[in-house]
Amino acid sequence: VSLGTVTRARRGLLWLDERLGNPMRGDGPFTFRRAVALDESEEFPAEAASELDRLGLPRYYVPVSLGGELRGFDELASLLRAVARYDLTVAIGHGKTLLGTQPIFIADDDSLKVRVAGRVLAGEAIALALTERENGSDLLATATAAVGQAPTRISGEKWLINNARRCTGLSVLARTRPTGGPRGFSLLWVNKGEAEGAFDLLPKSRTHGIRGADISGIRFRDAPCSASPIGGEGGGLEVVLRTFMVTRTLVASAAVGAGESALRIAVIFARSRTLYGRTVLDIPHAHDALCSAGAAVLACEAIALAGARILHAAPEQALFWSAVLKFYIPVTIEAVVRELAVVLGARHYLRDDHAAGMFQKIVRDVAILSVFDGSTMVNLSTVARHLAAALATPSVASLGASAALGEPLPAFDPGRLSLVTRSLTGPAALVRKSLAHSRELPSAEAVRPLLERLLARIEHLRAAEGVVALRSAFDMTSGATAAAADCARLAAAALAAAVWSESCETSRGVRPSGDWLAVFLARELGETEPALALDACRVSVLTSLLRAAESGSPFSLCEDGTTRRAS
Ligand SMILES: Cc1cc2nc3c(=O)[nH]c(=O)nc-3n(C[C@H](O)[C@H](O)[C@H](O)COP(=O)(O)OP(=O)(O)OC[C@H]3O[C@@H](n4cnc5c(N)ncnc54)[C@H](O)[C@@H]3O)c2cc1C
Repeated sequence: VSLGTVTRARRGLLWLDERLGNPMRGDGPFTFRRAVALDESEEFPAEAASELDRLGLPRYYVPVSLGGELRGFDELASLLRAVARYDLTVAIGHGKTLLGTQPIFIADDDSLKVRVAGRVLAGEAIALALTERENGSDLLATATAAVGQAPTRISGEKWLINNARRCTGLSVLARTRPTGGPRGFSLLWVNKGEAEGAFDLLPKSRTHGIRGADISGIRFRDAPCSASPIGGEGGGLEVVLRTFMVTRTLVASAAVGAGESALRIAVIFARSRTLYGRTVLDIPHAHDALCSAGAAVLACEAIALAGARILHAAPEQALFWSAVLKFYIPVTIEAVVRELAVVLGARHYLRDDHAAGMFQKIVRDVAILSVFDGSTMVNLSTVARHLAAALATPSVASLGASAALGEPLPAFDPGRLSLVTRSLTGPAALVRKSLAHSRELPSAEAVRPLLERLLARIEHLRAAEGVVALRSAFDMTSGATAAAADCARLAAAALAAAVWSESCETSRGVRPSGDWLAVFLARELGETEPALALDACRVSVLTSLLRAAESGSPFSLCEDGTTRRAS
């Protein structure tokens, strides 16, 4: 049993945050001013990336067993969130190495693991090349090929690859059986140094957001690749799907960081802008929008952290839960950012002025999170496949200590990530458990009726839902899509409730009250009736939001009110 406490997640966030400073001040590498300037000139944020290397962030991409510091995905999630608070271009540009190396670290080839770990620790960028221009999400159509008895040469083009130009090596999905099929593809390691002269780099693609990122491509011309495929010959799709369980979970935390910054920018504006003799914060819709957005960001943080802990505590369920996170958190943060844009008014549209014009950059940047690493539709199709299991009662599986943020976690065992989900802890079971725990907890008065309504919604979905038989994307009807989205939303809300009921009182360093959960559930359930208890919760969320905005410290569930930053 290894350590897995909320202190670890919180420590990660604060450790990096303290080093990176306040993004609203000055024009150093970790400021909004610099992020916007580089975005305008479409330049890669090289200085920020080198600084993260100097601070040792790459060590957290490498498991302890290989000489790194990666002990828990909850900690890594917090680190990525801390970088994303500054700039998603940096988070995506630097964090990409995680995507390129995870398949290697979770598969079995020890010699490759050791070599690639050494590269990451030395600050090299590694990429993951799956997508092709012609084939997009349809990985079974992958045309890049390395055929022959023991394939050691690869040909074909990968396009829209993050860091294709900057990286020194790539994990590349290739067809290794001409007829394809589930065992017809392998993931191959290409060392650019050894393949020199046998590949062409495609030009940087100009993008809507994260404009400085190196989104490009690579064309292999009979290029040498490692003789033993990552995850074994024919194991490419399997290792990619297992990798996605980890990376989809971590992308959710990057979204939380971007959402938190949008919130900070909007709250600082609302507090300081005077209209009609009072501040924007006094205008009821702006006030309520900020409370609602604040609660949603805290709930997304809870869900993202619990999701990262599921990789340790219940990896057999990670296929379902990673799809829930990767669907729910990016689309929720996108919605939150749109709501905050209304509060900011004209300034949300300006490429300078308030907060150096960072808000419009965040609007554009967050839109990518629901596209790459499995799009919203791809994740919803995974949820749709699990509808019956997720809604079944009774649910027998357990999420272990996933939602109990202060409890120790088992070490990550990639062998337990499963492509077949045998049983799930469904949202109904999580809500029932939270209700049972809730009597003695702070804010229970506001939370309990909302939990009852959440449970009723889950039961309604179960009653309405037939089994969705999904063999291909063409079975993903509008009805199946809507049911999957409902299920994912309810599951995410249930996970947030579980974090409240299992962490808030027992864990030092976790926000002691459930004010955020009450406001979040009211938002999710479309609760419109006025309730005194809920009003008090809104005020409490806004008070801590204002306090965090003033101090510049993270607005986080994992706070105890003592965090203050001087500069
Ligand atoms: C900035 C950026 C960075 C990227 N980085 C990388 C990278 O580092 N490595 C990499 O390999 N790729 C990367 N990609 C590619 C990205 O992962 C793909 O764009 C994504 O997987 C979707 O593919 P596509 O855009 O071609 O859409 P398509 O797959 O062509 O989708 C077209 C339509 O079909 C629908 N659809 C597709 N599949 C399903 C399904 N199963 N069920 C229902 N509907 C479906 C979609 O919703 C959409 O409406 C990146 C892309 C961008 C924009």
